[in-house]
Amino acid sequence: MTIGKLIDGKAFASGLREQVAEGVAAFAAAQGRKPGLAVVLVGEDPASSVYVRNKGKMTLAVGMESFEYKRPATIGQDELLELIEELNGDPRVDGILVQLPLPKHLDEQAVIAAINPEKDVDGFHVVNSGRLAVGLPALVPCTPLGCLMLLKDELGDLSGLEAVVIGRSNIVGKPMAQLLLAENCTVTMAHSRTRDLASVVHRADIVVAAVGRPEMVKGEWIRPGATVIDVGINRVPSTDEEGKSRIVGDVATSEAISHVNAITPVPGGVGPMTIAVLLRNTLVAACARAGIEVPE
Ligand code: NDP
Repeated sequence: MTIGKLIDGKAFASGLREQVAEGVAAFAAAQGRKPGLAVVLVGEDPASSVYVRNKGKMTLAVGMESFEYKRPATIGQDELLELIEELNGDPRVDGILVQLPLPKHLDEQAVIAAINPEKDVDGFHVVNSGRLAVGLPALVPCTPLGCLMLLKDELGDLSGLEAVVIGRSNIVGKPMAQLLLAENCTVTMAHSRTRDLASVVHRADIVVAAVGRPEMVKGEWIRPGATVIDVGINRVPSTDEEGKSRIVGDVATSEAISHVNAITPVPGGVGPMTIAVLLRNTLVAACARAGIEVPE
């Protein structure tokens, strides 16, 4: 029995951060300042706080400036929009990230729309999603861009390949499909209303699962030799005696591994790519604002 390869997203992300760090050093030498990333955290959601802390650490580690703006969950919409406006006008800030989800009383879409698209390093602004859709240079959402980097590293030219993206969210599924289309894949987008998902998935050379349902994609759905990117992060109760919870993806990896070409593990696959691409997007935004090429 052949065993498919596990794609090491952790190692790839580490290499990408090193490359970004070199670009940051070149930028700083030429511009006399470091690129800066501002992260806005509203409220005290424990998972969001951990993400923001990690982002801050990694931003500093690649040599960028990190600005954190923590605001109480009770902040009003106008006050939050004022903060965004301030960051839009701050010359030290090249990237603005508002940690989502926001508390219910705030209008997420209005907050994203208030970010200057040139500083929208999450790539969620409609200007950036529109630019991506029509093939113009854009700031692209970090997770799908990270998935594409892993796919190109694994497969090289993706032209003509049959790709199935499961999930159609604005932050993963839709931009993922646009990126694969731009690489000349034949793209199918599947979602909760898709009929006979198993046979749709079975025709794919590339499967990207971004659903949020533990091990929903069964091994037998996946065609032998396909390459699988598992975006899902699902916490499930452990089966061992200690009873701790564990993280699994959207794909039943233990079933798929015997016949795939390659698959991203969870954890250690797509997860580490997201912050690394965020840092890369911040460097790209800084270079665009300075009117210079991104150092390779
Ligand atoms: P959303 O909940 O926004 O979207 C989920 C998508 O899955 C929807 O389009 C939904 O379809 C579809 N879906 C739900 N049930 C089914 C089903 N039974 N069959 C087919 N499709 C289904 O999730 P996100 O896109 O934000 O995230 C997806 C997963 O990726 C989550 O586990 C999340 O934690 C993870 N994630 C990981 C990141 C990382 O850094 N690694 C970053 C972002 C997300 P419909 O539209 O019809 O409702």
